[in-house]
Order: sequence, then C-alpha cells, then structure tokens
Amino acid sequence: MEPTSESSMDDSIKDLTGLDAEVVSICRDLIRFDTSNFGGRPDAANERPAADYVMASLQEVGYDPVLHESAPGRANVIVRIEGEDRTLPALVVHGHLDVVPAEAADWSVDPFGAEVRDGMIWGRGAVDMKDMDAMILTNIRELARRGIKPRRDLIVAFFADEEAGGTYGAQWVVKNHPELFDGAEEAISEVGGFSTDIAGTRTYLIQTAEKGVAWTKLTAKGTAGHGSAINPDNAVTHLAAAVTRIGEQEWPRSYRHSTTALFEGVARISGTTFDPNDPEPQLEALGHTAKWVRSSLSGSVNPTVLNAGYKDNVIPSTAEARMDIRTLPGVHEETLDLIRDLAGEKVDVDYHHQLISLEAPSDTPLVHTMGDLLSQEDPGCEVLPYMLAAGTDNKAMYELGIRGYGFVPLRLPDDLDFTGLFHGVDERVPVSALLFGRRVLYRLLTEY
Ligand SMILES: [Zn+2]
Repeated sequence: MEPTSESSMDDSIKDLTGLDAEVVSICRDLIRFDTSNFGGRPDAANERPAADYVMASLQEVGYDPVLHESAPGRANVIVRIEGEDRTLPALVVHGHLDVVPAEAADWSVDPFGAEVRDGMIWGRGAVDMKDMDAMILTNIRELARRGIKPRRDLIVAFFADEEAGGTYGAQWVVKNHPELFDGAEEAISEVGGFSTDIAGTRTYLIQTAEKGVAWTKLTAKGTAGHGSAINPDNAVTHLAAAVTRIGEQEWPRSYRHSTTALFEGVARISGTTFDPNDPEPQLEALGHTAKWVRSSLSGSVNPTVLNAGYKDNVIPSTAEARMDIRTLPGVHEETLDLIRDLAGEKVDVDYHHQLISLEAPSDTPLVHTMGDLLSQEDPGCEVLPYMLAAGTDNKAMYELGIRGYGFVPLRLPDDLDFTGLFHGVDERVPVSALLFGRRVLYRLLTEY
C-alpha cells in the first residue's frame, strides 16, 4: 500500500500546535505499530516495538520507566510519578498497547496507516485504545517537562495482551510484579467517559462495572461404536441436548446499582418513566449506545464451538462444545452452578478461563471529580454511570484490591455510532474528541 501523503490529509490537524499537535502525533504513531493480538498463544502478538516507543517517549523527558516482557515480544511498560502528597493513595492510569486484528480488505483505509480524513484519525486502535494511550503519554510528558507534580502518586502502565484477557499483560504484571502498584486504591482505563446523545442532551457515561467472563468447555462421553448399532449412550446426542438446554436458557433481567442509576438518569434526562419491568423507553433514548447497555441487564451464554466425530458411520466416544458465558456482578458463582446443572450428569463442564465481574461505587470523590471536570469542559452536559458488558484490565487491578473505572473522556458528534467502532471496520476517533479528552485527563491527573 502507498504511504499516506500529507496532501491527502484534511485540514483538521494542519494548524494544531503544542499539546494538541503532540497528542495527535503520538496517537498516529501508535496506530502505525501493528500490535494485532490473535490470542491464545505467547507469540500471538508483538507489542514490543510500540512499548519501546513508549519507553523512549518517557525517557526523553526524564522518566525512568521499567519494561517487563512476559514472553518474547510481549512487553509491558510501567512508570511511577511521585505526587505532592504521598499520604494519598496512588492512582493507576493504564492502557493497553495491543489491538484486535483488522481485515484490511474490509476497510476504506489502511488499518495501520493512521490517516486523517473528515476530521478523524482512522485506524485499528483509534478508540481501543491508542487514543487514551496517547492522551496519557502526552499528559505525563507535559508534567515532566514543566516539573509539575500531580497531587498523588500516579502509576502509569501500558499493558500487552488486553484483547486476549491479559494473560501476558496486566494479569502477568499483577502476579509477577505486584509491588509496582503499592499504595494504589483506584484505577482508570478504557471504555467509559464517552458522550452519547440522550434526548438532545450530551451525556457522558463513566464505566463503573464490568460483567464477568467464563470461557467454558463441555465434554460429553459415551460409548463408541458402529454407526449401525442402536446406541443409547451416544456422546453427540448427550452434548447436543446439553448445548440446547444451556443455549435456550433465559437469563432474567436484573439491575445492579450502576444499571439502576443509569436507567433512572436516562429517564430523568429523556422525560420518560423508569419501570424496571420495561426498560425499552430508556433503551430507545440511548440510541446507538443501547446495544451495549442492553447486554448489561442480564447474564448471557453463547455456544460458540462444536467438535465431534470424524466419519458418518462411526459413533465417537466424546463430543466437545465451547461457550462464552458472561455474568452479572454478584452472581458469577451461582450462574456457573446453574450451567453445571443444565449440562447434566453426562457432560463434564470445565470453566477453563474465568475473569471476575466488577462493580465499583459511583458515589466517590474520584467519580465526582470526573463529573465536575466534564461539566466544566462541556457546560450543560450530564454524567451517568454504566456497566460494560465486556471486560477490561481493571479485572487484573481488582486482584490487588484496586477499584477500576473506565474514563476516556471523548466529546463525540451526536450521530457517531461510537460503540460500533470497537473492534469494528473503519475504527476512527474524531480529532476534536482526542483534544478534548487530553485536556480533561490532564486536569484529572493533576487535580485529583
Ligand atoms: Zn480495549
């Protein structure tokens, strides 16, 4: 592919100066590192070149960051910035350097070209989450250049492998170098802080909760034999029945305090009445964002892989299925117990990869500071909590007792289907949103 010539750029970044120019340039540089994570193996991604870039950016302004490789090429960068008041708990600010793969043929641009078109930076990672990585990096470089100390210690981390559950990233760092997070009680990271239009009011959603994950293998065992025999102990039949029972199970709608607060807030803003038995008016008011919010109202189970047999006339002795289970905070164990019951006695259930669900309080000084800063930078806006149906590296932080939030402040155009950009084709971030987020985050990092 031809390198992008500057003449194909639109004018939205031409006149930028100072930190505005810097955050755009760092974001584009990071997108150009292909850190695609194919998952499941130690060599499924190579974050090292991007991590080296982050190391150099930090060292250039006088920081002394550390780089830890969990496997060859799987690099994590961490730096602690000393605060004014060391009696305050430290704040962890973390991003991930890996991205999900991109099928270039489906895209209108080179997914790793970081082109600027229509006032947006296009490329894999533009919103997940090289935008935030660039905001963090630009802001802490500025602190060092100006000799400004934040109020409290900041522990800034750029992790590998978030897109495959953090085994070689946050989970590994937390397990092998927990001392790096000494004194931290709260963390901020991705998938929250973006704006969405609710009945004409720009509303920022701060992520205060995440669903849990259990990737699950079902194995049915039976009696192998000739396909012509009558066989009441057929592994494929046992497995199919279990998959059907689990797949057709209805998971009841259930509100956690984050979802209740969200729905009450949306009702107030949109002038509708919140009835927990009928959340449709509020979901309608949420527009594009309803896709995500709907999945935060109940658990879910999706059978994803089936494997059995090798020949038409041979009954196999085993059959295997895989499932992606997502649980609401507080009911992870009971959900897994129910699935084991539904699977029945002929089917073994192995929850081979589990990540906890999280719910952090939304009535805290940190969340209030986020809300105050957003209101000052975007007067008239509303700020509400929400639960992410997916997961982030905040799950790893929780292992150390650190409460995590999603806060990447982005002031977005009302008609942009932002949630559709995550892991999507033509992922892109508005330049104006990146500049807005950089400003808000700078204030949070210095004032909180
Ligand atoms: Zn992400």
